[in-house]
Amino acid sequence: MPDPVTAFADILANASRAVFFGGAGVSTESGIPDFRSADGVYAKRFRRHLSPEELVSHSFLAADPAEFFAFYKERLVYPDAKPNRTHEALAKLEAAGHVAAVVTQNIDGLHQAAGSKVVHELHGSIHRNYCVDCGRKYPLSFVLAADGVPRCPDCGGMVRPDVVLYEESLDDAVLSDSIRAIGQADALIVAGTSLAVYPAAGLIRYYRGHHLVILNRTPTPADADADLVIHGNMGDAFAEAMKILGL
Ligand code: NAD
Ligand code: ZN
Repeated sequence: MPDPVTAFADILANASRAVFFGGAGVSTESGIPDFRSADGVYAKRFRRHLSPEELVSHSFLAADPAEFFAFYKERLVYPDAKPNRTHEALAKLEAAGHVAAVVTQNIDGLHQAAGSKVVHELHGSIHRNYCVDCGRKYPLSFVLAADGVPRCPDCGGMVRPDVVLYEESLDDAVLSDSIRAIGQADALIVAGTSLAVYPAAGLIRYYRGHHLVILNRTPTPADADADLVIHGNMGDAFAEAMKILGL
């Protein structure tokens, strides 16, 4: 039996349409906290006695947009974050013809920043924002520069991020593209996700092959079904695998 990272490198080397399915753990090395780790966003309360799950819900945005944007800007948006070893490795693996797509639950845009071309953003992106009344689009800088609730200069409507909040549904096209990529994958790498947020977590069921890899610091509900489980730091695993692959 090869060691787990050699086995991981082997799966990547032999893949020609692998899919990477990632969560918040992909970006922790970039300095963006995840949600459910001990030092994650959910571990710290924000001002009032609301859970972060309530703070990032559609009903909270509707009820108290000022408080929503305060939390959003302070805890969810990291404009200076840079891609890390995992993002860089995935962009190289795509260019080398091993990885066909990244399906991500993250909203930080770091896969594209690293150079990945096919990225399905299940939960949207902080980089896309729109006026809820007239639909005009705005960059992240507009939201960050606004004092309090960002307002559309054209019509006065609220400008909100194109991210999927609790109680909101996923975009149909993104969902079906993700399902198609996973269904056609010759390997599925699931990394940095607690697999607690549905329907995203349920997507890995569309994988039908025999190279399901789970790469996570802590155990996940899918470990029992995986062909290879690596409990460790993702950046280290990718760096070592890329060295073995000579990429
Ligand atoms: P989660 O916080 O529930 O789980 C993250 C998992 O990653 C944990 O199991 C943790 O042990 C693991 N992990 C963290 N750092 C790791 C590392 N360096 N190596 C290996 N494993 C590591 O995250 P989730 O399942 O993605 O669910 C959170 C939701 O919140 C997502 O839907 C996402 O949209 C959103 N979110 C996004 C960002 C972002 O865009 N960067 C950040 C926080 C939350
Ligand atoms: Zn408007």
